[in-house]
Amino acid sequence: VVVDGIGLLVTNRPEMGEGPLGLLRDAAVVADGDRVSWVGPASQIPGGAPGPRLDAGGRCLIPGFVDSHTHLVFAGDRSDEFAARMAGLPYRAGGISTTVASTRAATEAELTARAERLAREALASGTTTIEVKSGYGLTVFDEARILLVTSRLADRPDLPSVDPTFLGAHVVPPEHLQDPDGYVELVRGPMLEACAPRARWCDAFCERGAFDADQCREVLRAGAAHGLGLRLHANQLGPGPGAQLAAEVGATSADHLTHLSPADVDALTQAGVVATLLPVAEFSTRSPYPDARRLLAAGVVVALATDCNPGTSYTTCMPLVVALAVREMGLTPDQALWGATAGGAAALDRQDIGALGPGDRADMVLLEAPSHIHLAYRPGVPLVGAVVLGGSLVVGQPPAGVARP
Ligand SMILES: [Zn+2]
Repeated sequence: VVVDGIGLLVTNRPEMGEGPLGLLRDAAVVADGDRVSWVGPASQIPGGAPGPRLDAGGRCLIPGFVDSHTHLVFAGDRSDEFAARMAGLPYRAGGISTTVASTRAATEAELTARAERLAREALASGTTTIEVKSGYGLTVFDEARILLVTSRLADRPDLPSVDPTFLGAHVVPPEHLQDPDGYVELVRGPMLEACAPRARWCDAFCERGAFDADQCREVLRAGAAHGLGLRLHANQLGPGPGAQLAAEVGATSADHLTHLSPADVDALTQAGVVATLLPVAEFSTRSPYPDARRLLAAGVVVALATDCNPGTSYTTCMPLVVALAVREMGLTPDQALWGATAGGAAALDRQDIGALGPGDRADMVLLEAPSHIHLAYRPGVPLVGAVVLGGSLVVGQPPAGVARP
């Protein structure tokens, strides 16, 4: 596919254009198979470039969003809990058990259909890669079943690319409340054994009401011993040991980070841990937002993601995340766009997504706007006009008179 007539192209390859986003004007992108093969001025498209063509009509083309933190596989609905919270009740980690009960009761077909619907929804708002965590099963059988459902999504070329994470240490399930250490033993033993073959990452929820630092450390070390990369839910609901634990174990990403001490920021900086911020979780719980500017000033790589889950952030919409990051966390539109694309790629330790240079995966979003600034400037407006996923147009109609690839 050839996309030409691009008014503004965000490459996220600084060596290819202007500023940290590597901006090019009046540009074109050529994809060969699922990879970008050429990027440059529209007037210089190489002869014999493969068709079909998509005319961007002067609009803005960005790399597909990389949503590096979601809990996509679950059943049930917690809108009543949301309404109660909006009426003044505080959020507690225990609400997760409600979703665990619904998820265990659902059939595999139901879980698959629901996750597919959410993945399609994410794609429609421009997400081309999505991390998906388990964590609503919390038995060996149910966690393995969630990772099986996740692997089915991963097999679908018409849905975002899936990066699977094992999150057995999400909360202590009701049947283990009297024996949380016994549950940790189960997670780091038989549950990890059953789940690791279908996962790329191991995660844990380090929080009062979930797991303490010692329990999380044991789970993460066991995950690493199974060859999994590490990530951690850290410092969401209050100050805690999570950020420093993420640094200690060499996690690729620490997520949430709403309550950080200066020592936490130093630890993340020194260890090169990506900070994944999830502003819709704060939006949906009426909580203070993390201090993204402070992390950026310290030299931490900041990624933005949805945290899609039925309790605290029931959205798949990365443009909303970008708008909140700009308005509520003080990021510039350029920083927010970078965090939602290249930042997400860094949080997943992927070099071939989140950018549009030769050799990168041809995951691209055509905005119904002249620039990416409109993602925050026009909040709530569906600006995703077309999505190219691995070189194929999967969302959106090309402008009149242009052949649909
Ligand atoms: Zn989460």
